[in-house]
Amino acid sequence: MSTPGAIAVLNAGSSSIKFALYEATPEETLLFRGQIESIGLAPHLKVADAAGAVVGERRWPDGKLDHREATNEILKVGRELLAGRPVLAFGHRVVHGGVGFTGPVRIDRAVMDELAKLVPLAPLHQPHNLAPIEAIAAASAIPQVACFDTAFHRSQPALAQAFGLPRDITAAGVRRYGFHGLSYDFIVSRLRQLDPALARQRLVIAHLGNGASACAVHEGLSVASTMGFTAVDGLMMGTRTGALDPGVLLWLLDERGYDSKAIEDLLYRKSGLLGVSGLSSDMRTLRQSAEPAAREAIALFVYRIVREVGSLAAALGGLEGLVFTAGIGENDAATRAEVGAGCSWLGVTVDPSRNAAGRGVISSDASRVKVLVLPTDEERMIARYTGRTLGI
Ligand code: AMP
Repeated sequence: MSTPGAIAVLNAGSSSIKFALYEATPEETLLFRGQIESIGLAPHLKVADAAGAVVGERRWPDGKLDHREATNEILKVGRELLAGRPVLAFGHRVVHGGVGFTGPVRIDRAVMDELAKLVPLAPLHQPHNLAPIEAIAAASAIPQVACFDTAFHRSQPALAQAFGLPRDITAAGVRRYGFHGLSYDFIVSRLRQLDPALARQRLVIAHLGNGASACAVHEGLSVASTMGFTAVDGLMMGTRTGALDPGVLLWLLDERGYDSKAIEDLLYRKSGLLGVSGLSSDMRTLRQSAEPAAREAIALFVYRIVREVGSLAAALGGLEGLVFTAGIGENDAATRAEVGAGCSWLGVTVDPSRNAAGRGVISSDASRVKVLVLPTDEERMIARYTGRTLGI
């Protein structure tokens, strides 16, 4: 039997490109995964095999590596790792699919033109997502598939996607899109395997990483989410404010002389856990700190999650399941315990020893709401969608 081909997944961010190689089989077996971090500063490539053992590493101390060069480097490393095994397709994470893209799509020139039109809706992310697609299209005829962070949320009722704005502004695309959809989609698919009955019920999934959001899901479909027009709304995050009274922006413009660039910097890079603590955006650092400001930052992070879980439960009309995922959700038992305590009025009881173990069900047997910790895997979701879209 010949060796199956591979599906290559690229997840390009503003300062990093993550990649993963999967066997193009129904089991989508992981072969390798890696990333180039700190692009533009001190680029660092690291590749691991499926067991997590590091199989390659490289640094560019002079910082000379832009996104296009980083993509080319990943393609080169990928070819070496695959040792003659063909790449059948590339799957890409694309942050914005607007209202039009409600699922993954095979990329051609017309799709690229549509995706480029969405750049103003996600100027910090979309150009980085599209650059590797262009680079690969220029160099090969291997099919490519775009998988969107927004697509999962297109099932939301019209009300959940609307702002209280005049119609002409809404018509121009100013509405709630929601993000982290690939992560939510993966969690729902995992839950269908683990607990099919719960997967059909009313869930809140809390994706708590450096970027953080939560999503209300019913019958496996997104009903509401905390992220809106952009990925800065909703929960407080590592360096992002989360929901903010828009009057604050007017005050900054009028009283402090901020321009849009300074506001962007404040909203996306200087706020959240970093801004409140004055110390770090990293939950591990804050948990280890005795500084009162670090405690306050964590307390606000948790408070905002508890408030939003309540809001999402209201959108669902009840709650049967609460799932924690992503870096903090998967690894920080203290955050889970604190959020659980704040949601006790909803019928959430987290079992301390199950929570300490940190995987699968962590609620007590008596808890009315089942609480789980499930690791997310956006790259695997992209590989799956890429294979399905192309029929491989
Ligand atoms: P992500 O963006 O999903 O990679 O998540 C990054 C966040 O997860 C950072 O705030 C990390 O501090 C946090 N994180 C990762 N591992 C742990 C851990 N063992 N305990 C607490 N927080 C963690």
